[in-house]
This record gives sequence, structure tokens and C-alpha cells, in this order.
Amino acid sequence: MLEKSVKSAFYKCKVSAATTLILLTPVIVVICCINAKTANAWGHLKHLESEFGQATLSYAAVNRHQINYCIEVDARNEQEFSEQSISEQTEMALALWLKVVSSVLNHIVAVHRVDCTSSNLDLEINLAPRALFDGSDLLCEGATRYLLRGAKPHVLIQIDTYYKFNASDTIHNFKQIVDNIGPTRVSLHEAMETANSLKQQAGDIGIEANVNDDVVASSTYPVLLHEIGHGFGLCDTDNDSDIDHERFVQTCDMAYVSSKEMQPESIMKRLNFFYLTDDDQQGVTEVVKRFIIFGKWRVPPPLNHRSSK
Ligand SMILES: [Zn+2]
Repeated sequence: MLEKSVKSAFYKCKVSAATTLILLTPVIVVICCINAKTANAWGHLKHLESEFGQATLSYAAVNRHQINYCIEVDARNEQEFSEQSISEQTEMALALWLKVVSSVLNHIVAVHRVDCTSSNLDLEINLAPRALFDGSDLLCEGATRYLLRGAKPHVLIQIDTYYKFNASDTIHNFKQIVDNIGPTRVSLHEAMETANSLKQQAGDIGIEANVNDDVVASSTYPVLLHEIGHGFGLCDTDNDSDIDHERFVQTCDMAYVSSKEMQPESIMKRLNFFYLTDDDQQGVTEVVKRFIIFGKWRVPPPLNHRSSK
């Protein structure tokens, strides 16, 4: 029954995404939603070729050596999802991806938190209690959109604080789960560092915090880690059912997938990982290698080239 409701949610998400594209093109180019049950290993999103493609964060890392992000938390959620804790999780998620990207680029990529009205925004994190797709009754845990405001594209990651169609019937701030870890309380930052260095999965943290695996896997940090992977140009590549296969073919570039059949485990496959698997690292490495020539992103097409196709 639970599995059925999750699949149903996915399907509605896709319908809503298509509707949004029709209404708002060219402002919103791609939407992706996730849950704890589905999605597969590395594959590249389509249309990554320019600054105005869907590898906005990779482009910023290559060409500007810097990623500017902002956090916006709805007033109704400020207590449970404090900006400070979401900011720490965002910076850690970015740091894991950028460690890989920087090693390919051979230069450091700086991360700065800016105001959401900044003209140099690369990544906007938005938490609010609502359906993520306007005009739809569907809720997703998290979704990634690509926005063009003026001449500057940026990635918008939305997390629905009222999401209830996952196995844990809600979404928690990962900070609250960390607060459960005892007997010696650890900081959020320490918990994320440890999870990465020990290659922990949701079950490991669930045991430490005495909460169900699904609660951990559906919390803000793995959602951010997954969605930021989309911002670097990676797609969901789940291929197990007809609905999944349809999305796989629609959103992934079939010339750039690690496999068209069985794929290894990864954060882009399931919200189970608190580190980047070899497959995640390979996927983002291949994005950068595809497009960097003499230290710059290859041949940006004209602005009006970008569309919903
Ligand atoms: Zn996804």
C-alpha cells in the first residue's frame, strides 16, 4: 500500500512538471522529484551544454570558481527547520560534491551564502509547507528547478515541509535526528563529517539516533545531497517500472548513463547515503570532463537557445 502511494506520487509529480513547463517556459526548464524508494545511479541530465543548461552548479564551479547560495525558510517552519541548520547541511552537501569537482578542475571552488535577492545567485534552497508544484495536489520531498532571472540562471531546490507520502509519513530536519544521538551529544557538523568519513548509511545513523531508517533517509540532509547532485547535472536513472523508465528516458541523456539496466547504489539512486558513492563521484566527474576545455565551459550558445525542448 505504501509502495503504491509512493509510485502514485511520482506519477502526479511528472504530470505537474509537464503542466508547469507549458505555463512557465522558458523560466522553468526541468523539475525533478524524489522519494526514498526509487531512482538509480549516475546519468547526466539532458541539455547540459551551456550556462543555461542544467549543470548550473558545475558551470559556476568551472567558470567562476565560486558558488553563491541562499536559504529561505517559510515562517511557519522557522522553529523546526532553522536557517542555520539548513545552511550547515547545504554547505556540507556542496562540500562533498565540490571535493570531487575541485579535484578534476585542480582549483578550489569557494562557497558563499548570499541574500536570495542577490544578482549572483547560483543556488536557492527553499523550505515551505506546500505542494511544490503550483496548481497541483501533489507533494514531493524535494525538487530541483532551473530558473532564468534576467540573464543569470540559478538552481532552485524546494523541500516540502509537509511532505507525507514517504515511508515515514513526514520529513524531518536532520538536525533533530542528530540531537537524538547519544550518550555524548554531537554537533550537526560533527555528525555529517563522521557520516561521510565512515561512509554511513541511513540505517547506521538510525541505530545511533534510535529512529527508523526511513525517518533518517527522508530527512533534509540526504534530500539536499541528492538534489544538489541534480544541480551539478546528474539525473535520476531508475528504470525498474514503466513509470520510472518513462522518466529515465525523458530526463537522462542516454549517451551519458553508467548503465541502461542495472546500476550501482548511489545517493542519486536512493536517499540512503551520507557520503558520495563511487558512482556519484564518477557521474559528476564525467559532467565536468565533458564540458571543460582549456579551463572553461565549452561554447555557450546564445541566450534565446534555451527552451523546454
Ligand atoms: Zn532526483
